[in-house]
Amino acid sequence: MEKGYVDAANALEQETKLSLRGFEVCDNIDLETILMEYESYYFVKFQKYPKITKKVLDTAENKQQLRSGGRPRRATSSSHTLPRLNQQTVQQPVSKTSPGITLGSKSSTKESNDSALTLEQSDFGLSISAISKSGGDSTHPRKGQVMDFSGMIQDAVSVSPNGIALNSLNYDPDPSERLLKPLSAFIGMTGEMRELAMAVSKDIYLHKPNVKWNDIIGLDAAKRLVKEAVVYPIKYPQLFTGILSPWKGLLLYGPPGTGKTLLAKAVATECSTTFFNISASTIVSKWRGDSEKLVRVLFELARYHAPSTIFLDELESVMSQRGTASGGEHEGSRRMKTELLVQMDGLARSDDLVFVLAASNLPWELDSAMLRRLEKRILVDLPSKEARKVMVQHWLPPLSNNGGVKLRADLDYSLLGQEMDGYSGSDIKLVCKEAAMRPVRKILDALENHQPGNGNLSMIQLDTITTADFLDVITHTKPSAKNLSQKYTAWQREFESV
Ligand code: ADP
Repeated sequence: MEKGYVDAANALEQETKLSLRGFEVCDNIDLETILMEYESYYFVKFQKYPKITKKVLDTAENKQQLRSGGRPRRATSSSHTLPRLNQQTVQQPVSKTSPGITLGSKSSTKESNDSALTLEQSDFGLSISAISKSGGDSTHPRKGQVMDFSGMIQDAVSVSPNGIALNSLNYDPDPSERLLKPLSAFIGMTGEMRELAMAVSKDIYLHKPNVKWNDIIGLDAAKRLVKEAVVYPIKYPQLFTGILSPWKGLLLYGPPGTGKTLLAKAVATECSTTFFNISASTIVSKWRGDSEKLVRVLFELARYHAPSTIFLDELESVMSQRGTASGGEHEGSRRMKTELLVQMDGLARSDDLVFVLAASNLPWELDSAMLRRLEKRILVDLPSKEARKVMVQHWLPPLSNNGGVKLRADLDYSLLGQEMDGYSGSDIKLVCKEAAMRPVRKILDALENHQPGNGNLSMIQLDTITTADFLDVITHTKPSAKNLSQKYTAWQREFESV
């Protein structure tokens, strides 16, 4: 009203049947975002976009149009007072982390009709509903993506009239938090599958875990093999053809806490692939009835976002030998295993850059059909004496700063490395933590009795951690997997390929 949009104000008052005087202006509302969020919600729920309508003006002209069955023409006054959104340049919020994108929506009706399978077009000309086949072709798959569900939803609604994802064209997002190709272009899916795909994407959402190859101590052979299997085929595709065509499945096996998950995280951090982090037990427990469909959707998504790595942790909990589990096996679980095998076969026959990385602590429990499909098997063994020494050095260096408090260690690293035969990486980490706790414990009482306000942590002087302390901790702990070691090497002799 202040700006003189009297007609518009009156129309609004009439149509909403609200007295505008009872309201005041909000200065911080992004109406378009609200609209888009509602539309995304509606889309996830019903696999279609809501039709947004407005009341037809009750003019004599319209009445006549309605009687004659024709489409009412917009009253001249309303086209003045209600500007169409598609004539404007509106700011497109994509996600919290990404910069705003200008959506210059110059949609002509023809263009909109061109995009296949456009479900509905709102009266505002917001072309947000294109589940377009052309979208799949014209978007540019980007490498090094990390699943981002909220981004994906936003992505799904930010498809321009010709089906090109606006996000993929207009900016290069922060590499640590990339958005995926819009799921709206994910074709060949029925409503149910689409819903599942949305759910999978949510479940496997993962930020780059920030583990570098150099953060992994020892395991040189395993690192080299993983690089050979995953990194190089993507980097030098021309080399990896014919007899050298890339492995499709790789199994990391060995005692718990030796760095298998760490290796997978390094792949996620260092490789330019979309990384699907799937904990097998989650699939099984959460998706009892739907696990089999979930597996199919997972592989389809992986192909769609290729190059991709699917990491299946705790594989034995999903792929134990079929039919042996205490007599009768759950029907759904058997179907799911079969589906996983079928999908792995599909990978083996195709040129898709989709790669399965599996980890297991109990390889002898794995189904033999699954094992055959994990062509490359790598033992991630307990750390060597040298690696154990480096680990203690890494976690307890002579001087470190712990939240402003200096931690000093005077340790005979070689001796400690030698004394911890049979300890896994995570065992050693625990021992280091325990050893570091000892001097801290000594002063905790004093700290607790301190008057609040004058406890300045940086003034505290902790005792130095000594070799004797450390050895004492060792005698009070047991390595978690020592007695299994022989079982792994025996299995290795029988099953490891090279
Ligand atoms: P698993 O083999 O059971 O998957 P993880 O990879 O989860 O074991 O390792 C557990 C933890 O132990 C890691 O988060 C890491 O802190 C430590 N760890 C184990 N092995 C290593 C290693 N080789 N280098 C560095 N840290 C390690």
